[in-house]
Amino acid sequence: MARRRQIYEGKAKVIFEGPEPGTLVCYFKDDATAFNNQKKGTITGKGVLNNRISEFLMLRLQDLGIPTHFLRRLNMREQLVREVEIIPVEVVIRNVAAGSMAKRLGIPEGTPLPRSIVEYCYKSDELGDPLISEEHITAFGWASPQDIDDFLAMSLRINDFLSGVFLGIGIKLVDFKLEFGRIYDENGDVRIVLADELSPDNMRLWDTQTGEKMDKDRFRRDLGNVEDAYREVARRLGVLPEGANIESIDSESN
Ligand code: C5P
Repeated sequence: MARRRQIYEGKAKVIFEGPEPGTLVCYFKDDATAFNNQKKGTITGKGVLNNRISEFLMLRLQDLGIPTHFLRRLNMREQLVREVEIIPVEVVIRNVAAGSMAKRLGIPEGTPLPRSIVEYCYKSDELGDPLISEEHITAFGWASPQDIDDFLAMSLRINDFLSGVFLGIGIKLVDFKLEFGRIYDENGDVRIVLADELSPDNMRLWDTQTGEKMDKDRFRRDLGNVEDAYREVARRLGVLPEGANIESIDSESN
């Protein structure tokens, strides 16, 4: 089968030209990186699981009226999405102190936050995604005040909804990262939509009973059983591919 034209290769995904104008195909790899590419590895079957988990969560959010770039899953490792102009801002929403915020502010990891805290980072691998404020976003023209209003409101709704979804399956949503993009319609009107992926690669998920980490921190911190954790998240969400040997799945499998 003729390969589609590759547009971009990221750390966890490869983006190909889609079958119709304005569409892209996202291929989910098993590659994992951490600490701005300093740690590299493979989590066998991760791409298959993240493709499913992200599909499931994007569809639930669409049911709620949150616009997303997701169109449909194509096969085990690929999904069709709408091409968007990515806003170079990572939106991090935190419910419990962990990771970089716990370290930066000297708050013990696991401390519940008095309310959800939203942080912004500038999307730049060279600079290591530095923390920024709304001032930087508007001053440098990365997004307008109206854009910020839109993606902030969406982020808080997404947090409320996903926190409930995960709580229902015995998982605490500690924090997560979102990316947004712009879609221009025929009249030149702009719409902000959720882009990228929603998976244990960009969320912290802790088992509510045991406190066990079920996300990429298992890879970052060498905790072991990384594949099992991702698989368990998929299983609890009810999206584990039935009877499939995900270790050996390539992109052409359905
Ligand atoms: O490392 P930090 O504590 O800032 O991460 C907060 C959340 O955002 C974590 O869930 C992490 O997985 C996610 N994140 C991400 N991509 C980044 C930075 C953070 O998905 N570049």
